[in-house]
Amino acid sequence: MPGYRGRFAPTPSGPLHFGSLIAALASFLDARHVGGCWLVRIEDTDPPRCPPGADTQILRQLEAFGLYWDEEVRYQSTRHAAYQNALDRLAAQSLAYPCSCSRKQWREHAVYPGWCRDGIRQPDQPVAWRLRSDLGLRPVTWQDRLFDEQTFDPAQLGDVVLKRKDDLWAYQLAVVIDDADQGISDVVRGHDLLDNTPWQRQLQVALGLPEPRYLHLPLIVADNGQKLSKQNLAPALPTRDDAVRTLLHQALIALDQAPSAELASAPVADQLAAATAAWDVSRLRPEVFKAQPPT
Ligand code: GLU
Repeated sequence: MPGYRGRFAPTPSGPLHFGSLIAALASFLDARHVGGCWLVRIEDTDPPRCPPGADTQILRQLEAFGLYWDEEVRYQSTRHAAYQNALDRLAAQSLAYPCSCSRKQWREHAVYPGWCRDGIRQPDQPVAWRLRSDLGLRPVTWQDRLFDEQTFDPAQLGDVVLKRKDDLWAYQLAVVIDDADQGISDVVRGHDLLDNTPWQRQLQVALGLPEPRYLHLPLIVADNGQKLSKQNLAPALPTRDDAVRTLLHQALIALDQAPSAELASAPVADQLAAATAAWDVSRLRPEVFKAQPPT
């Protein structure tokens, strides 16, 4: 498909695990199946959470799985000026406002009640910047390629933080600016980000940016029912070739792509070539499914 541009956008808070392989692989196959571009962006907006070297380790892991990217890897830590420019535009339209409230002060509410919308409550305190969710009262909707029509009520979303009190950029703003700046046509990512998408849609509308198509993937959980994540100590992906081949085959099974058993221990390039040709989104099942975490 001419114009298809996808991306994998890991936060380098640690090495990739099986859940992140699913997101990387699905976004790669979705792009390559239609001859599109596939980019890698390192979302390192929160340095205290990103141990030195984790970005390089992630890139080595992607290479070990044959997931080679186009163009230069982008690092969000170099993008301060672009994010500030977007925040300034939102603030100039009163769509973003400074907020001095602490989580403790509004803990009895499900979402932040917007106390600073019409003026900072404690002017001597550090401020975060929030997006106003009460201006466009239309529900936020999009057609997800797997989860069908999604509708969210802005009142239940609350005013999301765009820039934190410690001056770090929040994921929601950074991801929207970079997806637009990099001309991303298709976002393919984990189910855990589905409920972040409405804020990203609000920001795209507020900033007049194009709205990419979204495909959220089925959630991968371990056999004990826990989400696979770094916090749950999901094992890091290996880079040893024999282990990589087996795991790639398992990832294709987890994505319901029914890879041929004969390719179970084939070189990654052969497995990827077959999977790219056969990639079929309609095989994905939207329900949560289990996958054996690698040992
Ligand atoms: N950086 C985010 C994460 O690692 C994902 C961003 C995205 O795909 O939108 O969870």
